[in-house]
Amino acid sequence: GPADLECDLLVLGAGPGGYSAAFRGADLGLKTVLVERFATLGGVCLNVGCIPSKALLHVAAVMDEVKHFESMGVTFAPPSVDLEKLRAHKSKVVGKLTGGLAAMAKMRKVTVVQGSGEFIDAYRLQVTKADGGTQTIGFKRAIIAAGSEAVKLPFLPKDDPRVVTSTGALELRQNPKRMLVIGGGIIGLEMGTVYSTLGARLDVVEMLDGLMQGADRDLVKVWQKMNAPRFDNILLKTKTVGAEATEGGIKVSFEGEGGVKEQTYDLVLQAVGRVPNGKRIGADKAGVEVGERGFISVDIQMRTSVAHIFAIGDIVGQPMLAHKAVHEAHVAAEVAAGELLGDDHLAKAAFDARVIPSVAYTDPEVAWVGVTEDDAKARGLNVKKSVFPWSASGRAIANGRDEGFTKLLFDADTHQIVGGAIVGTHAGDMIGEVALAIEMGADAVDIGKTIHPHPTLGESLGMAAEAFEGACTDLP
Ligand code: FAD
Repeated sequence: GPADLECDLLVLGAGPGGYSAAFRGADLGLKTVLVERFATLGGVCLNVGCIPSKALLHVAAVMDEVKHFESMGVTFAPPSVDLEKLRAHKSKVVGKLTGGLAAMAKMRKVTVVQGSGEFIDAYRLQVTKADGGTQTIGFKRAIIAAGSEAVKLPFLPKDDPRVVTSTGALELRQNPKRMLVIGGGIIGLEMGTVYSTLGARLDVVEMLDGLMQGADRDLVKVWQKMNAPRFDNILLKTKTVGAEATEGGIKVSFEGEGGVKEQTYDLVLQAVGRVPNGKRIGADKAGVEVGERGFISVDIQMRTSVAHIFAIGDIVGQPMLAHKAVHEAHVAAEVAAGELLGDDHLAKAAFDARVIPSVAYTDPEVAWVGVTEDDAKARGLNVKKSVFPWSASGRAIANGRDEGFTKLLFDADTHQIVGGAIVGTHAGDMIGEVALAIEMGADAVDIGKTIHPHPTLGESLGMAAEAFEGACTDLP
């Protein structure tokens, strides 16, 4: 039947993937509709992810940083925190960004439809509004950007405010004395950092044998040494097997090498991963294949099993990161526009990023991109590393924060850079340069001879590259 609204490009979900796709599509001249179930644009990242977490982490980092000043002869009064005001600050930050997106959508004449969307066939989507009313949207091309949500462990008490995912933790409704973080990945450790700086004692439990999987162990070691004071227990190779809500707290049981243990907490954060929303969008009605776990597979043009329907962002797989979603979004929108407008160049757009950086915005930050040392060993790659310790960085020493280091990995034959990792303050702001160097096929000389400003932390990248020629170390 006829649709209530017709468009060239329909985008389902308004996270970093969805809004980027819609904006690019509209800029290229497509009549674009963006469907979002929530009242604000921005998805997980802006509303309950990247942005609010960084607003709180910045406050925590400053509160922690002043402690380093004591040895410099500068002391501050202990901070007092007004949680309500901090919450208001965080909401203001989020509001500024999501409001900005709404204005940009309007400026580009992207039609935003609020409601929950489901495909009814390969050319129509039905949107159910909050009031129960429905609207059918017909499209020529669609981009699925429905994202992911936090995994909820089945044995944890439900509807208990003392058990949260990152979304609940970001609401900052609790002021726990003892907090458990289940899952030692980036999200868990970031949220744990915030609560610990605000006064909680932390336990973290991780099934694998180390925190922050994906990063090389030498970086994590530095992070762990600096963060040891936050923790009562770091439980590795340990499973959370049960939990019970009691008046005194959430009583959690763990199973590890030493048998079963129990501890009671005021707040339990489950940060054990995210599941894609692929199974809740009626994909089958459009003929789009969805994998068992809810991921949608795509080709390098971000096409699903149905040629005129694309998928991007968390819903297409790891790494579940906003910057990946944005780049995939641009590819999908360009291919769609290229086909509809008969522009062969656009129609050939493809996602061919060599590398995607990862950052833990903790204190210190941990950032890495491309091949890691652990990777290289596992894959038997012939790479050599060069490390520049920040104990030799003028700026890091002047900052009183010289615990970090910068590590670069080069192909042993070509000396081209294949990976890099940084642990230290502002590591995340510097890792983009390594990504650029890898994308451009730079070698150690290119980076080493590039004049970096002195004295900066970024200079450590040039120093590590310069050290490579003279004093490279073989991987053990
Ligand atoms: P999402 O942001 O998940 O957006 C999907 C949107 O689709 C949502 O708004 C959802 O409401 C909507 N939707 C879903 N189904 C429907 C439907 N049927 N109808 C209508 N609308 C629908 N990444 C980083 O790169 N850096 C970080 O620092 C970072 N920090 C994070 C911190 C936390 C606490 C969390 C949870 C995540 C963080 N991430 C970070 C990950 C990042 O948020 C995601 O990778 C990113 O949001 C994915 O974008 P997306 O567009 O694929 O989907």
